[in-house]
Amino acid sequence: MSHSDSIAVVGAGTMGAGIALVGATSGLKSIQIDVCEEALGKARALHAKTLARNVQKERMTQAEADAAATRIEYANSLDAAAGATFAIEAASERLDLKKSIFADLRSRLSEDAILATNTSSISITEIATAVPGVEDRVIGMHFFNPVPVMKLVEVIRGLATSDATLDATLRLAESMGKTPVPANDRAGFVSNRVLMPLINEAFFAWMEGVAEPEHIDEIMKLGCAHPMGPLRLADFIGLDVCHDIMMVLYRELGDSKFFPCPLLRQLVTAGRLGDKTGHGVYNHSEG
Ligand code: NAD
Repeated sequence: MSHSDSIAVVGAGTMGAGIALVGATSGLKSIQIDVCEEALGKARALHAKTLARNVQKERMTQAEADAAATRIEYANSLDAAAGATFAIEAASERLDLKKSIFADLRSRLSEDAILATNTSSISITEIATAVPGVEDRVIGMHFFNPVPVMKLVEVIRGLATSDATLDATLRLAESMGKTPVPANDRAGFVSNRVLMPLINEAFFAWMEGVAEPEHIDEIMKLGCAHPMGPLRLADFIGLDVCHDIMMVLYRELGDSKFFPCPLLRQLVTAGRLGDKTGHGVYNHSEG
């Protein structure tokens, strides 16, 4: 059996639901695990809706959609991961939680299974300390939202990640139709280290009155060919998430250039978190 035959996806939220679906549509058995029944129900409904839309848009046949649906198993316990050769953890972004999931997975999975995490900002090397003796099989597999659409998987090696683990992970990502690109384990990896300061600087430009938010976004869209302006993107990601990632960069890299813009902090304090609360930089509840 190759490592890419079955994946256990831990966490059925925004990212986990997408990863399990992409796995199943690529021919892999996907075991979708979450401790929250509501999250599992939502993931199941999202999978059914997305597969039906793919058939309607003639991206796949009904038979292919049915086959993909039967490849996904839903479970509320990590016990269901036992048969998987690859685990991808996409649970909430908390170090203690991720470490406990990794320790539990290690006791349930086979000797040679690979333990991947979809973390956006936590050190892979630090998560690997939860599984002493098998740190070589721990790796970061950073998918992007929305998972079915975004091609990139940033693959992050921890200090002890082996070449064999890296190779198997690159192959798995390719078999899921993604383009894996390797990076090393520094705060924010490449994607967030470059993107988040850009977003933060857009808040500074707004705060200093360089331009209104609409104009900052329009300038970056038309002048730099960004598909979405940085402030609109911040609303989509969540202003609290942007703020927290800046704080990780600031703490870990120790450079004041990563300190969150006061205006970003203020909006987070006021509960203006972006799309998810209906109001962030922009008011999404208006027309
Ligand atoms: P989310 O809040 O939508 O989903 C997290 C899920 O984890 C929830 O359904 C929760 O019930 C579940 N969970 C919590 N404890 C669990 C446990 N012990 N066992 C199993 N499931 C558990 O979060 P998300 O946005 O999908 O993010 C998941 C991970 O992906 C995070 O590490 C995040 O940093 C990373 N990430 C997010 C994005 C994004 O754009 N949202 C992009 C890349 C990476």
